Amino acid sequence: MAGRIIDLHTHSRASDGSDSPAALVRRAAAKGLAAIALTDHDTLAGLDEAEEEAAATGIEFIRGIELAVQDEFGELHILGLFMPEPSERMLAAIDTLQRNRRSRNQAMLDVLAAMGMPMSMDEVREHSGKVAIGRPHIALAMKSKGYVPSRKEAFERYIGWNGSAFVPRTLLSPSEAIRLLRDEGATVVLAHPCLSKRMTPGRLDAVLTEFRQYGLRAIEAYHSSHDPEQVRLCIALADKHDLLLTGGSDYHGSNKDGIALGAGTGQLRVPYILLEKLREYRRSRGLPL
Ligand code: AMP
Ligand code: MN
Ligand code: MN
Ligand code: MN
Repeated sequence: MAGRIIDLHTHSRASDGSDSPAALVRRAAAKGLAAIALTDHDTLAGLDEAEEEAAATGIEFIRGIELAVQDEFGELHILGLFMPEPSERMLAAIDTLQRNRRSRNQAMLDVLAAMGMPMSMDEVREHSGKVAIGRPHIALAMKSKGYVPSRKEAFERYIGWNGSAFVPRTLLSPSEAIRLLRDEGATVVLAHPCLSKRMTPGRLDAVLTEFRQYGLRAIEAYHSSHDPEQVRLCIALADKHDLLLTGGSDYHGSNKDGIALGAGTGQLRVPYILLEKLREYRRSRGLPL
């Protein structure tokens, strides 16, 4: 069918989105999207609920995950799409990521307390889906305690990259994360390649050469943060490196302002044909759909 659109990058309350997995799927169906992937940070916990809701609603559902990796020049994000039932190795890796998150969160709360902004972990958890807890939940807790007027200010002053209470968390390396997902049988995607201001066309070219060797298969050309020129760059580099294309809004519900499911900041339209091409590739490799 012509004109069908999809969204292959979204977050639920299993990580730092505000919709429950089922509500997210219902919202996608109500918007008339043909397919949606749930790609929560560091967890697969929302997938079963979303998949069940999708089966009941008739929308196509793709099981996904988003992992952050530490690259030479900063943090990059990797999506795994078509995630199968997790192996023991995958479960252990997720466990380690969650443990690293918890100790980083506690370290950040310790710094904030020393700065006169005490909060308990339970107070932060109250703002989350109680699975993968992170900085957006700390920002919500800071706002509700009256420490900051807005979540934006929480990030700008305290918990963003340059904030005075920022504590980094231990991330996987690109080769660890990409190989982990590739070995699971997922389709591995470089998420929002142009989101970081540090990413230049030359650097992206080099990153793709390197990551492809580890098992990268696709690049998220269409994303809420990409302008038309960045989309064209991604498409040209996908062609050069023989990579597939994906796209998604990176919807977080009310936890990220101005990003609509399926539509991003308004202009995003990810065509269904991209999903067909991903499936065609997987079929040709005998990978489960
Ligand atoms: P964490 O994974 O706990 O370090 O938190 C990172 C999450 O915080 C990202 O996935 C974004 O959703 C959100 N985030 C990061 N930087 C900002 C920012 N400057 N303003 C608002 N949200 C942000
Ligand atoms: Mn997020
Ligand atoms: Mn990301
Ligand atoms: Mn994301």
